[in-house]
Amino acid sequence: MPLDLATLTLVAKPVTLDEGIRVLERDKYRCRYCGLDGTASFENALIMSVDFVVPRAHKGRKDPSNLVACCRPCNMIKGRRVYGSLEEAKTYVLARREDLRKAWELKRGRPLSQSA
Ligand SMILES: [Zn+2]
Repeated sequence: MPLDLATLTLVAKPVTLDEGIRVLERDKYRCRYCGLDGTASFENALIMSVDFVVPRAHKGRKDPSNLVACCRPCNMIKGRRVYGSLEEAKTYVLARREDLRKAWELKRGRPLSQSA
């Protein structure tokens, strides 16, 4: 199922559309950090992007081995930190997502549960 190319306007600037598509297709439009499936819905497709595992600011290469499919939230959480490997970045991103989920659940649990 080919995705609307509008999705790819979100590809990081230094990556061309062609390079972005190649990376997304290699990774089957699935976020390499959280596993979000970019083909599952329009909303998911919209937030897919391409991430530099080693950021360009730290001499990360514009090379397929340094590029992965990534959803925007994971990209934001990963930020500009530098990791030793994709695995290390993934561990950090997933742990941070879990923290955020717990904080969100706590917050949601309080006032909403009483008004229901
Ligand atoms: Zn993700």
